[in-house]
Amino acid sequence: MQDFVSYLRDRSGEISQLKKKGIKVIGYFPGNYMPEELIYASGAVPVCLIDGEKAAPANTALSVVPNIICSFARTLIGEMMTKENPYYAMLDMVVAPITCQHLKKVAEIWEYQEDIEVFKLGVPHQYYNDIELDYYTERLKALRDRLQAFTGNTITDERINQAIDTYNRMRGLFRKLSLIRRSYNSPISALDFIKLNHLSLCADPNDMIEMLESFYSKITNGHSDGNSDHPRILIVGPIIARGDYAILEIVQAAGGEIVIEEICEGLRYYWHDIEKSNDPLKSLAIGYLRDRLPCAFMRDSSKKRLHFILDLIRNFNVSGVIWHELLNCETYDAESFFFSQELGKRNIPFLVLESDCGMADVERLKNRVDAFIELIKGEIE
Ligand code: SF4
Repeated sequence: MQDFVSYLRDRSGEISQLKKKGIKVIGYFPGNYMPEELIYASGAVPVCLIDGEKAAPANTALSVVPNIICSFARTLIGEMMTKENPYYAMLDMVVAPITCQHLKKVAEIWEYQEDIEVFKLGVPHQYYNDIELDYYTERLKALRDRLQAFTGNTITDERINQAIDTYNRMRGLFRKLSLIRRSYNSPISALDFIKLNHLSLCADPNDMIEMLESFYSKITNGHSDGNSDHPRILIVGPIIARGDYAILEIVQAAGGEIVIEEICEGLRYYWHDIEKSNDPLKSLAIGYLRDRLPCAFMRDSSKKRLHFILDLIRNFNVSGVIWHELLNCETYDAESFFFSQELGKRNIPFLVLESDCGMADVERLKNRVDAFIELIKGEIE
């Protein structure tokens, strides 16, 4: 992991050098409704805004929004206000996919508080037929046109298809890494997997692919399945922000092993590739809207996500599910009841936890996770 740590340490300096040479730096909100391929094909540097290590930015934002806005959305506002985080100080433009109500509010607040262009990327909140697909494709076209004008570079179909190839290679590597976590002797921990995923959201994709290929071959060389009696945990939730790793550490310290995640924001969605075609914008729309697992803000997403989660439970031999949501995230809070009922019917242990980015209340979470892991251990024995 040392190579990745050094790369991350140097990456903001590298982007800053690129910016001095006139290359644009374009930030976007997490959630996987913003195809990075488009920014990359424009010659700009895409940077996903996923930091959530400290509570301070979310607290700073309380001077402009109430605390009913979730702490991740407030972190975005606070980071922009303070600009202490180098990535925020470098942004030339931001793309804000219109997803949950809280992120929508962030885009509006940035527009009137900050001197930065915010492109609002309309995202249909349902997918039933071609109407939604056509709308999203049109919005991607508008984004492509804006990026062309902003960067001065022509975004040809060929460039988009090349970018799709590049990001497909990265998605494929994350898939492979994820699948080896089915092993009872996984050579990669949840924490490392998530840190790599986070790094990929600010790294140059070609550098990332090279590092991931080398990492994958190192960790799988001579690896064989083993035995472990640690309860195998699936984490479900709206977001894991970069640096906000306390929940992962708490589960590990309690003797649980997180073997897979179903997280809407903050992690790259890697379960399928984008299929190329003569109309690459349509391909992106199909891949990012129609074919992917819908986030919780999407209409009728709960049952689809339930089936996906049940498949993960089977394929990764999961022994318990931790539902980890942020305080005031009403979408996930409302869904937690449905999931607790459905998993309860199937006798799958289920724990709901709430916290804030930067987590002040670690002790309380620790006690609840300890008790949950003990309960699962009791069932396994
Ligand atoms: S945690 Fe919930 S409320 Fe906050 S940005 Fe994510 S989906 Fe929206």
